[in-house]
Amino acid sequence: MFLGLSSETWRRAVFCKCPACGKGALYKPKSFDLAPACTLCGTSYADNDSADGPAVFLIFVLGFLLVPLAIAFEFSFSPPLWVHVILWGVLALAITLGLLKPLKSLIIQIQHLKRGP
Ligand SMILES: [Zn+2]
Repeated sequence: MFLGLSSETWRRAVFCKCPACGKGALYKPKSFDLAPACTLCGTSYADNDSADGPAVFLIFVLGFLLVPLAIAFEFSFSPPLWVHVILWGVLALAITLGLLKPLKSLIIQIQHLKRGP
């Protein structure tokens, strides 16, 4: 249990699996869009909407993680400005693309748990 969610819920969120069966894909292939329904159990995802929740989580994570690192990096090494632009820009983009789908999946898992089967 972490934050009141079972390890199975976290596994389904991290691997973007169906909140009902835990095996079917939650997203369309190579897309950030939800699939219309689970390909294995048929659970419809039509009522699920994570809205701006994942983006807000990412803003908090990136803000609290990258800004102190950038400040510490500047005071330690004083690199040219272009190093900051490339380093933190690429890092922010990589973290965003890596975490957006699992965070959206986590919100949908929680919606499914609160709504019930
Ligand atoms: Zn399913």
